[in-house]
Amino acid sequence: MSVLPFDQRDGFIWMNGELVPWKDAKLHVLSHGLHYASCVFEGERAYGGRIFKSSEHSERFRTSAALLDFEIPYSVADLDAFKQLVVDKNNFTSCYVRPVAWRGSEMMAVAAQNSTINVAIAAWNWPSMFDVNEKMKGIRLDIADYRRPDPMTAPSGAKAAGLYMICTISKHRAERRGYADAMMLDWLGRVAECTGANIFFTAKGVVHTPIADCFLDGITRKTVIDLARRRGLEVIERRIMPEELAGFDEAFICGTGAEVTPVSEIGPYKFTPGAISRALIDDYSAEVQPKQKAA
Ligand code: PMP
Repeated sequence: MSVLPFDQRDGFIWMNGELVPWKDAKLHVLSHGLHYASCVFEGERAYGGRIFKSSEHSERFRTSAALLDFEIPYSVADLDAFKQLVVDKNNFTSCYVRPVAWRGSEMMAVAAQNSTINVAIAAWNWPSMFDVNEKMKGIRLDIADYRRPDPMTAPSGAKAAGLYMICTISKHRAERRGYADAMMLDWLGRVAECTGANIFFTAKGVVHTPIADCFLDGITRKTVIDLARRRGLEVIERRIMPEELAGFDEAFICGTGAEVTPVSEIGPYKFTPGAISRALIDDYSAEVQPKQKAA
């Protein structure tokens, strides 16, 4: 199936204060963000025309920029309004929303304090995959060679373009080898996350997930922990070594894109998607629906 390239679509993109025709949302080749990775972004999803946890994403967007030593020149409330405008103007109901901010062209060297901070917001159709039976088959994960970096060597809490370099390489390798994605270890060899999603396991009815101190603490991760606890499940955030995978019953990944997706295999380890994954898929799909306002 050929997909229309992302620069060739119709619709509107919000860029530096105004809605512009989709094909006109361009930047110059000499942009600091492109050369030096001074670029942060968000990945969000609208359900029924409303962005799930929009303000949390806007806050993380601003925090990611601050970690890269620049400031997004808009408040959380402004960003929320611009994002909603993009969803509405494009007549989307189920879509992905991509805010991005980058240093511009005024300075083209490592130091770039005086560059303009550019901000754009795009959105594209992305109906969610709620065919539960299909999902419950589980996906297969490779184990990546690259590891999530020591937080002393990178701003690992940021959703920053530069941190995705090893994710793209790892995902390409996984797909070449017939896997859907790759699980990454951290700099000390402990289980971390996937290339674009967080990871959970279950053992004897208890949910286990790695401590998010050197990788993105996903908004979906926090939602899933909350949903599991609301169900009365015990959730333990702890260090998990890869050898322990042999002792887990279920595994699943979660993220804005992945939602809750069960895992059947990680390298040599096998899992059986079961009741906890199924319950959290259902809880998550109910949670993301726009709340009805009281009449
Ligand atoms: N880790 C990585 C590397 C990601 O790209 C994502 C997706 N943004 C996540 C985790 C999950 O984050 P969220 O639940 O906020 O989408």
